[in-house]
Amino acid sequence: MKTYQVDENGYYGEFGGAYIPEILHQCVMDLQKAYLEVLNSESFKMEYAQLLRDYVGRPSPLYYAKRLSEKYGCRMYLKREDLDHTGAHKINNTVGQILLARRMGKTRIIAETGAGQHGVATATVCALMNMECIVYMGKTDVERQHINVQKMKMLGATVIPVISGNMTLKDATNEAIRDWCCHPVDTFYIIGSTVGPHPYPDMVARLQSVISKEIREQLLEKEGRDYPDTLIACVGGGSNAAGTIYHYIDDERVRLILAEAGGKGIDSGMSAATIQLGRKGIIHGARTLVMQNEDGQIEEPYSVSAGLDYPGIGPVHANLVAAKRATVLAVDDDEALEAAFELTRLEGIIPALESAHALGTLPKIKFCPDELVVLTVSGRGDKDMDAYITYFNQKYK
Ligand SMILES: *Cc1c(COP(=O)(O)O)cnc(C)c1O
Repeated sequence: MKTYQVDENGYYGEFGGAYIPEILHQCVMDLQKAYLEVLNSESFKMEYAQLLRDYVGRPSPLYYAKRLSEKYGCRMYLKREDLDHTGAHKINNTVGQILLARRMGKTRIIAETGAGQHGVATATVCALMNMECIVYMGKTDVERQHINVQKMKMLGATVIPVISGNMTLKDATNEAIRDWCCHPVDTFYIIGSTVGPHPYPDMVARLQSVISKEIREQLLEKEGRDYPDTLIACVGGGSNAAGTIYHYIDDERVRLILAEAGGKGIDSGMSAATIQLGRKGIIHGARTLVMQNEDGQIEEPYSVSAGLDYPGIGPVHANLVAAKRATVLAVDDDEALEAAFELTRLEGIIPALESAHALGTLPKIKFCPDELVVLTVSGRGDKDMDAYITYFNQKYK
C-alpha cells in the first residue's frame, strides 16, 4: 500500500535521510536502532502516557467552536494544545525524548531554540528529570525573547548565546550540532520539530501523534465517526501539523491543509513561506525544501511569529505537498493578526501567533455546510501580547 509515512531508509519520497558529519555517524545509527524499540516498549508507553496525563494535562479538549463554525459555514472543532503545560504542543515531544535519552543512558541534554519555546519545553523536562540542560540560542533571539531566557534560567538550564551568522535559529542549530559532535557519547540532542536527520522527523511525529490519536477518539464520541473531512494546522518545522495528521495521513477521505508564514507577503523578500519559496537542499541533516539564494546559502526567513520563521520544513510535509496530498496556504502577518483577534472575540481564546496562521487560512478555504473540520490551536497567546498590543493600537486608535 502507498504510504506517506517514513520508509525504512528514513525517507519520505525524495525528502529526509540523514546527512551528517562522520563523527556523528555512530551516534545517529544508535538512535535509529533504539528509538522504535524504546517507543514501542511497554515501560516507555506507560511512563509516557502517565506524564502526558498528569504532567502535561492530556487529553487536550476537542472544543466545538460554535460561533466560528457559524462564521465560516462548517462544523469546526479546535484541538486545544494551547492548554498543555508550558502553553504549547512542544512539551509532548520533549517529555518523550527525555524518557528515551534516559533509557539510552545519556546524561547531558542539549537543544537549540529560536523563539525560546522549545528551549523552555526542554528546560522544563530537564528540571523534571534532574538532567543537565544546555540551550543554544542566537544572540539576537536572546535579546528578543527575554522572558523565555529568564524561564530557562529559572528552570536550571544554561543558555548559550550564539554570535555566529545572523545570530538566530539556524546559527543556534549549527552550534548545537557542533556540541553534539564533541560529546556524541554522553549527550542527547533534543530536536524540537519534525526536522533534522532521520530518525528525528519520524520520532517527533510519533511523539506528537497523541494529538491525532485523541482527535480520533474525541470525534467518535462527539460525532459518531472517527475522522474529520478537513484538518488544518500551521507549519514551522512541522511538528504540530505532523501530530495532527499522523493517523489520517494515508486516509484520502481527509483533506489536509497546512498554513505557512507569508510574512509581509511571499514576494516581498520578507517571508517564511518555505514550501512555496524553498528549493531542494540540505538543512540540519535532512534533504528537504530550503529557503536559499543562488549560491545555496540559507536565506534568513521572516515572520511576525518567531515560531514559524524557520528556513526549512519537515521532509514529511515537503513530500505531502510534492505529492499533492496536502494543500499549503501562505498566511501573511496581517492576516494572522486579524485571525487572532477574530478567535479572541468569537470564542474567548487568545491563540499563539503561530496558531493564528492556521486560523488565517479560514477565509481562503471553501467549506461545505456540514463539513467536519478540526483545526489545531498549537499554543496560547500569552507570549505574543506585545505583538497583539502593537497591532491593536495601530488598528483601533
Ligand atoms: C514552535 C511552535 C510552532 C511551530 O513549530 P511546529 O514544529 O511547526 O509545530 C507552532 N505553534 C506554536 C505555539 C509553537 O510554539
